Amino acid sequence: MELPITYYGDPVLRRAGARVESVTPEIQRLIADMFDTMTAYHGIGLAAQQVGQALQLTVIDIRPVTDRPSTLEVNGQPADPNSIMPLVLLNPELTPLGEPEIGSEGCLSFPEVYGEVARPGRVGVRATNEKGAALEFTCGGLLARCIQHETDHLRGILFIDRMDPTVKAELKSDIARLQRETKAALLRAGQA
Ligand code: ZN
Repeated sequence: MELPITYYGDPVLRRAGARVESVTPEIQRLIADMFDTMTAYHGIGLAAQQVGQALQLTVIDIRPVTDRPSTLEVNGQPADPNSIMPLVLLNPELTPLGEPEIGSEGCLSFPEVYGEVARPGRVGVRATNEKGAALEFTCGGLLARCIQHETDHLRGILFIDRMDPTVKAELKSDIARLQRETKAALLRAGQA
């Protein structure tokens, strides 16, 4: 089932997520709904905060993007990044590796807003998956960028926080308008 997306200005996007200690039927349903939502909006990653839940849960599927490469290493061996898609990460912990790389990012909570963000080019990832199994791998390229963007969401951090001030300044009016519109919509809905 497709869920409503939360937009910038909704306080839930600034809330650090609670750890997900067990994959209950409710969590399984949320994961399925998040995949439905991400697919409907043509996203490659979606965090629980983006559907109104402050939890350490994100879903990722980079396969729709074919022009930005990714790398994957499992147990020190190169592997096909698509082999771990679709990907569910619960309580992810990242270890930054490699030099910062600049790349363009968007976010489903910021419609029409795109900007360059510098992030480590590779990251080590430890997390739990939707079956409760431990995951450990190293990745690079688009997958590393996506996982860092989504893991930030789980801590209440947004991609605009990572932007160079000159990049952010160019987007300032769009971001401010989005925030105003979201707050007005929340007031109308009686949720503010
Ligand atoms: Zn995002």
